[in-house]
Amino acid sequence: MVSHATRIGIIGGGMGGLTAAIALTRIAGVQVTVFEQAGALGEVGAGVTVAPNASRVLDRLGVLDRIKSAGAVPDGHGVYLDAMGRMVTDAAWEDSAKRYRNIGMYRPDLIDALAQAIDPETIRLGHRLSAVETVDSGVRVTFENGAEDVFDAVVGADGIHSVVRNAVGQFPEPVYSGYLVYRGVVDASLLPADWPMISQVWMGDSRHFMCYPLQQRKLINFVAGIPSDRPLHGSWSGPAEVEELAAEFAGDGWDPKLQQFIGLIDRTFWWGLFDHEPLTNWSRGAITLLGDAAHTMLPHQGQGVSQAIEDSMALATFLAAAEEASDIPEAFRRYAAVRMQRTAILQSGSRRAGAMFDAQDEFADLAKRDADIRVGRDFRRSAVFDYDAHKVAEQALTRFRKVQFA
Ligand SMILES: Cc1cc2nc3c(=O)[nH]c(=O)nc-3n(C[C@H](O)[C@H](O)[C@H](O)COP(=O)(O)OP(=O)(O)OC[C@H]3O[C@@H](n4cnc5c(N)ncnc54)[C@H](O)[C@@H]3O)c2cc1C
Repeated sequence: MVSHATRIGIIGGGMGGLTAAIALTRIAGVQVTVFEQAGALGEVGAGVTVAPNASRVLDRLGVLDRIKSAGAVPDGHGVYLDAMGRMVTDAAWEDSAKRYRNIGMYRPDLIDALAQAIDPETIRLGHRLSAVETVDSGVRVTFENGAEDVFDAVVGADGIHSVVRNAVGQFPEPVYSGYLVYRGVVDASLLPADWPMISQVWMGDSRHFMCYPLQQRKLINFVAGIPSDRPLHGSWSGPAEVEELAAEFAGDGWDPKLQQFIGLIDRTFWWGLFDHEPLTNWSRGAITLLGDAAHTMLPHQGQGVSQAIEDSMALATFLAAAEEASDIPEAFRRYAAVRMQRTAILQSGSRRAGAMFDAQDEFADLAKRDADIRVGRDFRRSAVFDYDAHKVAEQALTRFRKVQFA
C-alpha cells in the first residue's frame, strides 16, 4: 500500500468527489484534500436515485445506513405506464440477491450525508481550479483565488465542464440529446393518501414523466423529459414556469392522476440534457478523472452518480494495491482500463433508454418498445445492479499481476 503520507488532491466537491474522498481515505489510506469552487457544499433541490450497485459500494465504505435514513426506499418495484396510466411493465428496483434497493435521495441530503463522513479540515471551499500540470515534485494545482499546491496525484471530479479533463488531453464535444427535463419536488403531504410510494414513469407522445419518493417520503421527486430545440443560450439549466410544464401534459390524452400531481408543483427548473462520446483516455501520469468529468451520461438509467460511486471504489482499490507514489500512474491506468469499458456501455445504454421512454427512432413501434423495456429490466438487474465495483477491481488486479509475472 502507498504510504499514509501520500497526498491526493480531488478537484470538485460534488457527489463523485466526496465519495472519492471517503473511499481513498478508508480503502487506500491516503491523505486527501477536496477543492470545491462554490462557497458551500450543496446541490440543486431535486432528487437522485442511488442504485443498488452504488449502495453496495456505500455499504463497504460504512456510510450506507446514514444515507438510507436520509432517503426513501420505495415500497416495491417501479412501474412503466402508458400516457393514460395503464401498466406497461414493472421496473427493476433491487439487485438479484434482494439485498440492495434503489434509494431516492434529495440531492442536498446526499451531499450532507457524504460530507459528514469526511474530516471538514480536508475540504477547501471557494477554490476554483484554473490549471493543473505535472511538475518534478508531483502535480501542481492552481486556483483562481491565487492558491496553489503540489500533490502526489490529482483526481478530477469536476463534472461535465471539467478543467482537469483537458490536462489528460481530452476535449469532448457536448452532445445535445434534443431533450430538456423539468425537475423539482412536490410536498408528499399534499398528495392523496393512496399515492404509490414507488417509482412511476408515464410514457407517451415523445415525452415522459417520472416521479419517486425522497427524504423519508416527505417529498416526491419529478423529472419530465420534453423534446426541445429551444436555444440554450450558453446555459444548460435555469428556472422555468410551472404552466409551461403543465401545458406539455395537458389534454385528455394524459392520465388525470398525473395531471393532478402536476397541479401541485409550485416551482420547477429546466435542464438541457447533454452527454458526450466516451473518452479515449482518462489519465495522464498521476492525473485521472472520475464521475461526470470522465463519463457524462444521460439520466435515463439513473446511473450518473452511481457510476461516480463505482469509480471511487475502483480507484481506491487500485491505489491501495500500489506500493509507492511512483506506482500511482500505473494504478490510474489500470483503474481507467477497467472503468472505461463499463461506463461506455452505460453511456450508450442511457441514450437507448431515453429513446425507449420517448418512443423515438427504432422504438417508434410501441409493441417493440414495450418488449424491449421488459428485456431491459432484467438486464438492468443483472448487469447494472448486481455489479460489484470492489470485486471487479480485485479480479482485475489479479489478472494484471499474472500478466506482469508471465
Ligand atoms: C435530470 C437529471 C437526473 C439525474 N438523475 C440521476 C439519478 O437518478 N441517478 C444517478 O446516479 N445520476 C443521476 N443524474 C446524473 C448525476 O446528477 C451526475 O452524474 C452527478 O451529479 C455527477 O457527479 P460528479 O460529482 O461527477 O459531478 P458534479 O455533480 O457535476 O460535481 C462536480 C463538482 O465540481 C465542482 N467544480 C466544477 N468545476 C470546478 C473547478 N474548476 N474547480 C473546483 N471545483 C469545480 C462543481 O461545483 C461541483 O460541485 C441525473 C442528472 C440529471 C441532469
